[in-house]
Amino acid sequence: MAIRKLLRMGDDRLYNQSTIIKDIHSNKTQALIDDLIDTMRHYGGAGIAAPQIGELQRVFIIESNNLSRYPNAEPIPLTVLINPIYEILSEQQEEDWEGCLSVPGYQGLVSRYTHLRYQGYGRDGQMIEREVSGFHAKAIQHENDHLNGILFPMRVEDIRNFGCDDSIWKRLYPKQSYPEDRKQKVRKIWDFD
Ligand SMILES: [Zn+2]
Repeated sequence: MAIRKLLRMGDDRLYNQSTIIKDIHSNKTQALIDDLIDTMRHYGGAGIAAPQIGELQRVFIIESNNLSRYPNAEPIPLTVLINPIYEILSEQQEEDWEGCLSVPGYQGLVSRYTHLRYQGYGRDGQMIEREVSGFHAKAIQHENDHLNGILFPMRVEDIRNFGCDDSIWKRLYPKQSYPEDRKQKVRKIWDFD
C-alpha cells in the first residue's frame, strides 16, 4: 500500500490506451488497487484510474462522500471496476463542471450522458452491474475516458469554459470565497520533484 505520484496533464502516459487485466487475483493487481485507493483518498479525489499513477491497465475506482467540489452529488460507495464497459441508456446529455487529479487547479465544462448501465469486475473477481444516473454516471464516463487516453479538457467544447479552479469558482459563486479545502488540495498535488 502506498500513496503514488500522480501523473499530470502533459505526461505522455495519460494519452495511451490501457490494456485488459487478465489476472484479477494476482498480487500485482491487488497491490495496484490498494495504491489507487490510498492515492485517491490522500489527494481527495472522487475517482482515479490506473494510468494516472502510470499503470496502463484497465481499472479505476470511484468513491464520493461529501466533496465541496460536488456538493449535490449523491454518495458513491467505494467501487473498484476492472475491465469496465458501459452502455448508454438515454441520448440525453448534461453539462457540468469537472476536475481531475491529473489536471490539478483547473476545472472545465463537459457534456456527459446522464443515464447508463455499466459492468466490470470487482477486486474479488465478481461481476458488478449497475444502472446509474447523475454524478455517478458522469464519474464512470470520466474515469473510463482515462483508460482510453482521454482527459476531460479534451472534451471541453469552448476553451473559455476551462480555467483555473479559483477563477471559475468566482464566476460561478461570486458571493462565496474560494474554499480552503480546495486550496489545500491543489497545493498538495502540485508537489514538484
Ligand atoms: Zn480524472
